[in-house]
This record gives sequence, structure tokens and C-alpha cells, in this order.
Amino acid sequence: MTRVVMKFGGTSVADMDRIRKVAQFVQREVDSGNNVVVVVSAMSGQTNHLVDLCEQAGPSKISLDAQHCEYDAIVATGEQVTSGLLALVLQQNGYKARSWQGWQIPLQTDMAHAKARITAIPDTNLGPAIDGGQIAVVAGFQGIAEDNRIATLGRGGSDTTAVALAAAIGAERCDIYTDVDGVYTTDPRITKKAQRIPKISYEEMLEMASVGAKVLQTRSVELAMAHKVKLRVLSSFEDPDIAIAAQLKGTTGTVICDEDELMEQQIVSGVTPSKDEAKISLIAVPNEPGRAARIFILLAEANVNVDMIIQSPARTKDAANISFTMNVQDIARAADILENAKDEIGFQELTADNSVAKVSVIGVGMKSHAGVASIMFQTLAERGINIHNISTSEIKISVLIDSEYTELAVRALHHAYGLDAAAE
Ligand code: ASP
Ligand code: MG
Repeated sequence: MTRVVMKFGGTSVADMDRIRKVAQFVQREVDSGNNVVVVVSAMSGQTNHLVDLCEQAGPSKISLDAQHCEYDAIVATGEQVTSGLLALVLQQNGYKARSWQGWQIPLQTDMAHAKARITAIPDTNLGPAIDGGQIAVVAGFQGIAEDNRIATLGRGGSDTTAVALAAAIGAERCDIYTDVDGVYTTDPRITKKAQRIPKISYEEMLEMASVGAKVLQTRSVELAMAHKVKLRVLSSFEDPDIAIAAQLKGTTGTVICDEDELMEQQIVSGVTPSKDEAKISLIAVPNEPGRAARIFILLAEANVNVDMIIQSPARTKDAANISFTMNVQDIARAADILENAKDEIGFQELTADNSVAKVSVIGVGMKSHAGVASIMFQTLAERGINIHNISTSEIKISVLIDSEYTELAVRALHHAYGLDAAAE
């Protein structure tokens, strides 16, 4: 009795034809003897449309908890539709299937409406239902909060639904079907030499997702890593007959698993660009204890997530320049907050820069190899690309550069780390 979770994203269920195709993938899994939970997203574009309606109906900035509850009630409907439709198609094809809404499972969440976190999934209903031979088609992205109202898990949250259910029912794997055939060494729109990565560790995937590779919601990867749920990223745009065989051979898709399961560790597995970056520099901050703390406490209180931080001596004596990056969406708010605290912090000038991008190289092999950073810096230097900020983790090096050089930097680094696909 093998339990499997299959998740289909918005483009995979975009219309009735696509939903019928999804049914074929599900049916093959069932025919091969597995007990299946399917998690679906809303039809692509639908959630955006629903968010737009919320904004038309209420204040454009939804701020009160009560309003969040209604937002959740509205935006959760996209998944309700696709779960019902897929269940209908499966029934039509002679399979036992039913739709499940978040509250019926129940998938319990905290009270943070619109960005709720899952608190518990008592495995009372779903497991026995699929073991009884019924396909469970679950509406992703939604659950039920402590106030007994519908809650949604934040944009892209269906991935998290799928992984959480896989962990809760002890599924052997969680297959995430999307419109690409796996995770790539870099964005294939930037270089045709990008290659599919057959197997990658949770840690690497987490770093890639957090710096902008948008295949999976970051939270879902964190959850998979914590519960050791084996993930596969697969395409629903392939012929189901051919795809299943290719999945088994590993000639399509990406397996995301524990580092120990990787046969050979690449030094660098991927080069990930992120253009959603912005930088603020504070010039001539008095160089004394407590100033940096004040700056970052103010930003944290405003929920601004700060990333690369650099402090360097300023021209003025006993002063330092502090620069840091954040998501471009937050820069206006961050600048406002700091300008308002200018006297208290004591800086002379604030500069804000939107025309920056972050390029990261990621790989678990870095832990045990020297010289990875020097290759990066030299490669960029040879192209005349100036580095503004640098940050590192055990398995990632990120640099901040002028955004106009993003593509050039990505191609050069992809080549330098030996990731280019052989010419056909
Ligand atoms: N439909 C939701 C969204 O667009 C959730 C998801 O697709 O994962 O964000
Ligand atoms: Mg998604």
C-alpha cells in the first residue's frame, strides 16, 4: 500500500483539456497500484483575478483581520473549482474520486489570514479514504483557522499543501507537476545551455527557491526537508505514456532529496539570478555601538527582510557607511522609515538604488572545495562587472551587481563552473 501525493499547478489545470490530461497522469498512478492524494492549484490567472476583485471591493490595502478573512474566503475559491472539476473528470473516466476542501480534511492553520501557517493535519479522514480506493482531490492553498474560518497559505501555497499532506499521511513521495520538466542549472531563457538537474539536495533547492528560482514555494521545500518528504518536479505537459517511463529512468524531472542520496556532488549545481533586489546605503553613520542595531530593529519592526549587509569606513572620521539589500517592493517603505529616524540614527545621507541584481552560485560541493569564490570574482572581473555587495552561506555565494549585467554574468558563471550543456 503505497501512498503518493501528486500536485498540479495552475498552468497544469488551466482549462478542461489540461484537467483531462491531469486525470490521465493520476489514473496511471492509480492503475499502478498506488493510493493517491491529488492537490490542485486554481486555474492559472484565477487567483490574481480574485485578488483583483478583493481590491475592487475593499480598500486596496487590506489591513484589518476581518478583511483578511473575507479575502481568504474569496481567493480560496479558485482551488475549490479545480478540485471539483478534476474529481468529476476522474469519476467520468470510471474512477472513484471526490473533492476535499481544506476544512474537510481538516488542514488546520494559525490565525494569520492570507499568509497562514499550517498547525496540524489530524490524519483522520484522508489516509483511510485513499486506502479505501478513492482518489482524494484536495483544494490546495487553503485550510481552516482557529476561528473556524477559511485561511489561505500565501501565494504559491499549494506546494506547501502538497508537502504537508505528504508528510501527514506518510506518502512515499510528493510529485509536483508543473509546466517545466524539472529544475534547471539556470534560467533557460537566459542561456540555452541551461541543463535539467536530475537530482538535487533540499538545501540547494532551498537556496535556489529563496533567491528567486520560482519552481517551488520556499516554504514547501523547508517543510519537505524537515519531514524528509521526497519531492519530484515533473512536467504535466508531456505525453503521460512517455513521461511515466522517462520519470522512472530519470530522463525527465528533478528529484529533490537528502544530500546523502546524491551520488556525486557538484561543486556548483546552479546559477540563480534575482532582479527583485534593491539597495539602500546610509552614508556616515556614527561608528559607535547601537547604531546598526537601531537601523535593523526599525526595519524588522516594519517587516522589511534585509539581506546583504556591508559596513565600510566612511570618509568622515569615526563614521561608517552601511549598505544593505532587500526586495524591491520594500524599498520605498524602508527608505521612509529610515529618513524619519535620520536624526536618531545620525546618518548624513540615504541613497536608494533599484537598478541592482543579485546573482548566486549554489552547490553543496562548496562545503568541501576551496576556490569557488575566486572563480566567481575572477569571472566577473574579466567581464568588467563590478561587485557591490557579497554574501555567503555554506553552500551559496551571492553578489550584487548592476542589473544590466545580469544575463552576461549568469552566462559567464554558468560556463565558468562547467554547467554548460554540450552543443547539440
Ligand atoms: N492559487 C494560489 C496562487 O496562485 C496558490 C498556488 O497556486 O499555489 O498563489
Ligand atoms: Mg506555484
